[in-house]
Amino acid sequence: MSEPVLPGATVGIVGGGQLGRMFALEARRMGYRVVVLDPGGDTPAAQVADEHLRAPFDDVEACLELARRSEVVTLEWENADVATLRRMESVVPVHPSPAVLEVAQHRVREKDAARRLGARTAEYRAVRTRAELDRALAQIGAPALLKTATMGYDGKGQAALHGPGDADRAWDALSGAGDDFILEARVPFALEASVVVARTADGRIASFPVAENEHRGGILHRSIVPARIAPEVAAEAVRTAEALATGLGVVGLLAVELFVTAAGEVLVNEIAPRPHNSGHYTWEACGVSQFEQQLRAVCGLPLGDASLLRPAAMVNLMGEDAGTGLSRRAIADLLAVPGTALHLYGKHQARPGRKMGHLTVLAPTAEEAAARALEAWERAVR
Ligand code: AMP
Repeated sequence: MSEPVLPGATVGIVGGGQLGRMFALEARRMGYRVVVLDPGGDTPAAQVADEHLRAPFDDVEACLELARRSEVVTLEWENADVATLRRMESVVPVHPSPAVLEVAQHRVREKDAARRLGARTAEYRAVRTRAELDRALAQIGAPALLKTATMGYDGKGQAALHGPGDADRAWDALSGAGDDFILEARVPFALEASVVVARTADGRIASFPVAENEHRGGILHRSIVPARIAPEVAAEAVRTAEALATGLGVVGLLAVELFVTAAGEVLVNEIAPRPHNSGHYTWEACGVSQFEQQLRAVCGLPLGDASLLRPAAMVNLMGEDAGTGLSRRAIADLLAVPGTALHLYGKHQARPGRKMGHLTVLAPTAEEAAARALEAWERAVR
C-alpha cells in the first residue's frame, strides 16, 4: 500500500464551487495546502485555497500543472473530462479514478453498474432515436421520464411522459440536448434518501447516516437526518451504497441518491463520486464532516467517525431566497433559532436555482431539527 499523504502536502481539487470550498477549509484546518482548478475568477473554493489555477476543465496543460503541483488530486465536479484525468493519473494519484467518473457521468452506465452490483433501479432503457423512444415506452409503460444520459443534474434535462401521446413533446424538448438518452419508469416513491460513503484505496469503508431529502423544482431543499424510515430499510440503503462504492472501486466519497417505496424497497436513482449537498449536515452533526472524510480517504489516512452525534436538518439557501447575501436582520433572526449554523459560499452573483449557502440545525429529534430548519429558512428569506 502506498504511503499516506500527510499534512503539509498539497492536495489538488478539480472544481471550485462550494463543495471544493468546504473541502479546502477542512484540508487547510488539517495543515494541507490546497490548489484549485476552476475556470471562474473569484470562485467559492478559490477564495479559501492556497492557489488557484484559473483554466477550463478541458485545458490539458492546466490539468497537468495541477497534477504536478499536487501529491494527490480529488474532485468536486463529476463532469470533469475523463481523458484529461487519465493523463493526470500518469503524474499523480487521482481519486476517485477516471473509471469511476466514466460510470457516474452517464445515466445508462450508472444504472447498468448498479444492477450488476446487485442494487435495484427503476426499469430503464437506453434511447438514441425517436423510434427507440417508442419501443422503450411500449416496454416500460407510462408514467416515465426521458432524461439526457449525460450532464443532467438537479432535474435538468428531463421530460415527463404520462402516455404514448407525450413522446413527441418529450423528444422535441430533449433531443437537441445530446445524442444519448435514458427512459426510466417513474418510481412511486414514498421518500427520497441518500447515503454518502467513504472508501480508502485499501478497502476500508465508512457510511454516513441516511439522509431523507425533499426537493423543490428538482433541487434539494431540505435534508433530515436520520431519515424517518425503518432501521432495516436504512440498513439496506447503507448496504446498497457500500456495495456500489466497493464494486466500483471508489477511493474518496460516493454519494448515492435513492428512492424508498412505501413497501420499503430501496432503488438507486443516481450516484456522484464526490461530496453531496445532502451530506452538508455532517459538518455539524457527525464525528467527521464529509469533506474531512474525503480528504482522509484520498490521502490514505484512517477514516473518521461517521456516526451521527445529534439529529440534524439542512436547508439550502438559493439565489431566489437569499440574493447575494442576507440582511443584517435576517442573519440575526435566523441565528436566534436554537442550534442553527449558517454557511455562505461567497458567491457574488445570485440566480434562481443557484446554491448560495445553507443552514444546518441540530436538535434533540429529527422532527424538531426539520421544523427548526424550516423556521430558520423562513426567517432568512422573508
Ligand atoms: P435526477 O436529476 O435524476 O436526480 O432527478 C431529479 C429529481 O427528479 C429526483 O430527485 C426525483 O425527485 C425525480 N425523479 C428522477 N427520476 C425519477 C424516477 N425514475 N421516478 C420518480 N422520480 C424521479
